Amino acid sequence: MKIFKKKIVLIWDFDGPIGLINSSLPYNFHFKTLESEIANLRVILDVLDQYDVKCCFAVTGFSAEEGLYPYTFPELIKEIYSRGHEIASHSWRHEWIPLFEVKQVEKSLERSKNTLERAIEGKQNVVGFVPPHNRPMTWMRRGAFSLGDRRIFPFAATGDNEALIRLLKDKNYKWVRVSYSNVLHKLGFRSTKMTGRIFYYKDILLLENHYPGFGKQVTDYILRTNFPTYTLSAHPLMFSFKNKKENRANFFYMLEHLCKSDQKIEFVRPSDLLARD
Ligand SMILES: [Zn+2]
Repeated sequence: MKIFKKKIVLIWDFDGPIGLINSSLPYNFHFKTLESEIANLRVILDVLDQYDVKCCFAVTGFSAEEGLYPYTFPELIKEIYSRGHEIASHSWRHEWIPLFEVKQVEKSLERSKNTLERAIEGKQNVVGFVPPHNRPMTWMRRGAFSLGDRRIFPFAATGDNEALIRLLKDKNYKWVRVSYSNVLHKLGFRSTKMTGRIFYYKDILLLENHYPGFGKQVTDYILRTNFPTYTLSAHPLMFSFKNKKENRANFFYMLEHLCKSDQKIEFVRPSDLLARD
């Protein structure tokens, strides 16, 4: 059997307190949760070093402002970057994009990019965007429609991936993680690649993501299939939750099996996949 070189992109959604505050539905705010997300992140960074794995952390822009730890943490963002990982934007304050107006989304893209770049002292351009809550999931042009977006195109100008991609291009972003499901896929007429595809669309590199987490199922899938790329995502917060696919045990399972397999598997940052111009 011919063995291809497989590149794995792993993106962590690092919401930070501002994200956790804005995500709490139903209300479940605890200071302990904020502390455990950051404690988990520190463990994750050590494990990544141990396995020499480079990946990407998508961080809320407000978290990069100077302020009171742990509510903001520019130093920690700088540390993540200096340990070899890419920093991407996870919006300004974890907005539900379809509910916001175009101007507000533009501000969120601008501000988050600026504050994150300032925190890492301009050593890396922030060119990646990971939409909070994976919204919008609607993409009319590709036959994807999600009532779960809560406000839908054409009633919401920001409720369609086509519009988001246009805004990202305007604001000098180069890649975006997208989650959407075509009607044919939803009805089971077409199969979906478990970890999504990576391709260019209107000069923006799209990383489809259908699979949050790690574990045996996705690890075996990567080992037995031969795609050039695989995208995985996870939340530092879930790392300590025993019942989540994104937890510590599953993370170790994946790293042990992929990093020590005899296949040519390499973890890369999303920007490593950008076409050089
Ligand atoms: Zn998030």
